[in-house]
Amino acid sequence: MRRKVVAGNWKMNKRLDEAVALAEALLTVEVPAGTDVILGVPHVFLDRVVKLTEASSIMVAAQNCHAADGGAYTGEVSVPMLTSVGIDAVILGHSERRAQFGEDESLLADKVNAVLAGGLTPIFCCGEPLSVREAEGQNAFVEAQISGSLFGLTDEQMAKIIVAYEPIWAIGTGVTASPEQAQDMHHAIRTMIRARFGDQIADNLSILYGGSVKPANAGELFSQPDVDGGLVGGASLKAQDFSDIIAASA
Ligand code: PEP
Repeated sequence: MRRKVVAGNWKMNKRLDEAVALAEALLTVEVPAGTDVILGVPHVFLDRVVKLTEASSIMVAAQNCHAADGGAYTGEVSVPMLTSVGIDAVILGHSERRAQFGEDESLLADKVNAVLAGGLTPIFCCGEPLSVREAEGQNAFVEAQISGSLFGLTDEQMAKIIVAYEPIWAIGTGVTASPEQAQDMHHAIRTMIRARFGDQIADNLSILYGGSVKPANAGELFSQPDVDGGLVGGASLKAQDFSDIIAASA
């Protein structure tokens, strides 16, 4: 049985006192059975948020990492550093990192491997820009992202991945994919995973939708058969909104 996952992506927001207050407010949230909650926290706050949440079911993710275990990479953070802090997952391939930091399929394949080797869960993001959607090329675009970074994995590795489909035109724009658009793409993703890795891995894969998820639309999105929760940006910064989205995963 695959899990529902509600993951927050705090991006480059919050100062330490605000990050602590948000994590503390979420400690009282009732998490539905069958749902995992993951907070995607800026590196500088990870240690603090892990300690705050360790007695709860809330898991903590980094928003990026370097593929190398260590060395002369000024300003970067490695997987062994992240595991030493006690986090659970790493968001990889967010469209902001692809667009602003030039992350491509091959680099992301290396990062996925590094995260898996460290025993952490990669939350692998994919999704098309508006121009591709308008030209109806979204399935081929997403398939290239997934095959380029994930198809070299073994079955055992792929079983540990979470995929987040985040159409770029819906991220931070207030425009949400319709439940039908989300379902169509999630079904297409599960079908490509099935063709490469087989039924068991495809059926157990959690595929999250991301792009302007809010309390008002989360329930309908999450009730689609292939939508297994969400990766939430803006609405994860407010404890009440994020709690309501978690509740919508029941
Ligand atoms: C995101 O940052 O991954 C995201 C989906 O943002 P938002 O929910 O604000 O659109």
